[in-house]
Amino acid sequence: MRTLIFMLAAALAPAVQAAPQEPVWSLAQKEKPAAIETLRELVNIESGSRDKEGLDRLAARLGERLAALGAKVEFYEPGAADTYRLFDTPKEIGKVVVGRFQGSGARRIMLLAHMDTVYPRGTLARRPFRVEGARAYGPGIADDKGGVALILHTLAMLKAMDYRGYGTLTVVINGDEEISSPGARAFIQRAGAEHDFVFSCEPSPAKEGGITLATSGVGQATLTVRGKSAHAGVNPELGRNAIVELAHQILQTSDLSDAGSRIKFNWTLASGGQTRNVIPELATASADVRVNRIADFDVIEKRFRERVKKQRIADAQVEAGFERRRAPLVATDASRALARRAQAVYAELGLKLPVDESGNGGGTDAAFAAASGKPAVAESFGFAGFGYHSSEEEYVELDSIEPRLYLMTRLIMDASR
Ligand SMILES: [Zn+2]
Repeated sequence: MRTLIFMLAAALAPAVQAAPQEPVWSLAQKEKPAAIETLRELVNIESGSRDKEGLDRLAARLGERLAALGAKVEFYEPGAADTYRLFDTPKEIGKVVVGRFQGSGARRIMLLAHMDTVYPRGTLARRPFRVEGARAYGPGIADDKGGVALILHTLAMLKAMDYRGYGTLTVVINGDEEISSPGARAFIQRAGAEHDFVFSCEPSPAKEGGITLATSGVGQATLTVRGKSAHAGVNPELGRNAIVELAHQILQTSDLSDAGSRIKFNWTLASGGQTRNVIPELATASADVRVNRIADFDVIEKRFRERVKKQRIADAQVEAGFERRRAPLVATDASRALARRAQAVYAELGLKLPVDESGNGGGTDAAFAAASGKPAVAESFGFAGFGYHSSEEEYVELDSIEPRLYLMTRLIMDASR
């Protein structure tokens, strides 16, 4: 009987459960209304990647906010030598806002987010900031103004605790992420190499709310076909039809995707010809390319260039191009260890934190930060959101604000030890 009672008591006793750590959890709760106000302020400064004036205004405001939190603030303007020009790189690129905090510890931690959005000026007038139920709506609110707000309010919590256990804490916020970071990539690579940890704050997907250890590398293959124009009615036989050659090239390269190595190669843009009754002399196309390992860029580029050698119209000119727009982020032992620590922090709130290593979908600046192989890098610490890069209205889930603030603050304190 005594044994039975003992067994019953053991079964009924609550399992040892980690509890939210104080004062961090109370501070996260207290910070939520201010974080929503910050989202409003950031959304109300339009900052499309090509809107230099809007980007400059937002950069100045972020500089003020970081300085008020105690950071030494610098603005980095990407120079010509530092800029990796892509076919769609605008003349003027947004600057990078850098805020540095000096602590008393040894660890170097970097927080990364971007202030530019995919939305052109004027979008805000049609879709103004609003809070409805448990969601806040606005252009760029999740991607990535939520990430910027997360950083600002994490810093406010550290300040409230007068916490300085890190060696250096560096905030990097660039203004060209949505156009593949032509200006900021070199800076982010250098900064990443100087840190032990990089927490990248792109939004986390609504509902799942996980973090990411792998992102895809993004490339672009292009074809430019030059033929010869001729009158389509009088003497078409004198022409060399660039559209026909392009169609042939697209068809013979439409099976370059490779499920085994998870290389994706898809034609997404094409155009050709100018006038109905003229045999077209020019046709162009570009394909979206995704890889999970950096070496696969070489593999797919070689296959593509090999394949296009076989022409249908022998004397048309076929020019193939290949751009490496973004490197992939690959999971490492160090980033997996970091993810386990993040999961332990979430468990203190009784929450599960999914960790994604699939590398599916988008590419981000986390990969540039990881390029040196030195820091442990994890992505998607931002607030949970939905609708980014789509015609649907973008929103942030307000219920994700407190757990995300708690996670980032605790993780900085944990990584500092
Ligand atoms: Zn983003």
